Amino acid sequence: MFASLLVTVALALFGAVGAAPQKRAPAQVYRKCTVANTVALTFDDGPYTWLNDISDALSAARAQGTFFFNGNNFGCIYDDVNVRRVKYAYDNGHQVASHTWSHKDLTTLSSDQINDEMERVELALQRICGVQPAFMRPPFGNYNDLVLEVSGARGQDVAIWDFDSGDSLGAPAQESINRYDQVASQHPSSILTLNHETIASTSVQVVPYAIQRLQQAGYRLVTLAECLGQQPYHRTGDAEGFTPPSHSRISVDYWTVFHQLTTFSYDALLRSYGLRFGSDLFILHLINFFRLLSIGTALRSSAPHSLV
Ligand SMILES: [Zn+2]
Repeated sequence: MFASLLVTVALALFGAVGAAPQKRAPAQVYRKCTVANTVALTFDDGPYTWLNDISDALSAARAQGTFFFNGNNFGCIYDDVNVRRVKYAYDNGHQVASHTWSHKDLTTLSSDQINDEMERVELALQRICGVQPAFMRPPFGNYNDLVLEVSGARGQDVAIWDFDSGDSLGAPAQESINRYDQVASQHPSSILTLNHETIASTSVQVVPYAIQRLQQAGYRLVTLAECLGQQPYHRTGDAEGFTPPSHSRISVDYWTVFHQLTTFSYDALLRSYGLRFGSDLFILHLINFFRLLSIGTALRSSAPHSLV
C-alpha cells in the first residue's frame, strides 16, 4: 500500500514534469497571420456560456476558429459543463490554446508563477482533449522577456492580434460590426482577430455577421495555426478519459495537487481550491510529506548518474 502510493506520487510528479517539450529559445511572438487570404477568428476568456453557439456558427459556415481558454476565469475549466464545451469546440475542428490559468498580468509574476499559470491550462487541455497546445495568448496581450523565456521553455509560441473587435473594451455590438466592415473593406492580406466568447453580443450578433462579411470579402476563415502555416499542437492523442470531479469540498483533484506541489505554489494551490485551514490543509501536508519522500527516493536511486 505504502509502496504503491509512492509510485503513484512519483509518477504524477515526474510524468507531469517530463511532459513539457524542451525548447530553450524565447517564444516567437505572432502579431499577424502569415498565409495570404486567411482570417483567424480567435476567442478569449472561456470556456463560457456561448462557446457552443460560436462553434456552431463557425461550423455552419465551414469556418474554423481558435479558442484561448483560461483555467479559472469566468468558471473552472474542470466544471462538468465547461469540460463538455471545451471538448465540443475541439471535436468540431476548432483550435484550442492557452490563455493561462487565472488571467493574471504575466508581466507582474515571477518565473515560477508564470510557469504555474501556463502549465495548469496545458495540463487541462491535455486531460480534456488529449492535446498539448503550441500557442498561448498572454492575458491583456502583456508580455516581457521573462514571459517569452518561460513560454519558449514550455514550447509555447505567443499569439497577439492585429484586429480588435473592441468587445472587451465595452464596444457595443454595432461598433464591433463596423470595425469588421472597415477591415473587410480595407482588405489586408490576412487578419488575426481578437474577440471574447464571454460577451453575449459577440456570440449572437457580431460573430455571425463577421463570418458572413469576411467570407464575402473572399477570405478563408481558418485556425490560428493554419493562418501561420504551423501545427496547432505538439502532440495529439486520446484524452485521458477524464471525468470532472464532484464538487464536495474535500474532493480535490489530487493529480493537479501533486503537480502544483512540485512548483511549490502552495498559496496558489490553496486559493484555487478555496481551501483554508483545518482538515483540508492537513491533507495537503500529508501529500507534501509523500512528495518529499518520493523525491528523496528518486534522487537516491539516480545518484550515480547525477550530481546529487
Ligand atoms: Zn483575456
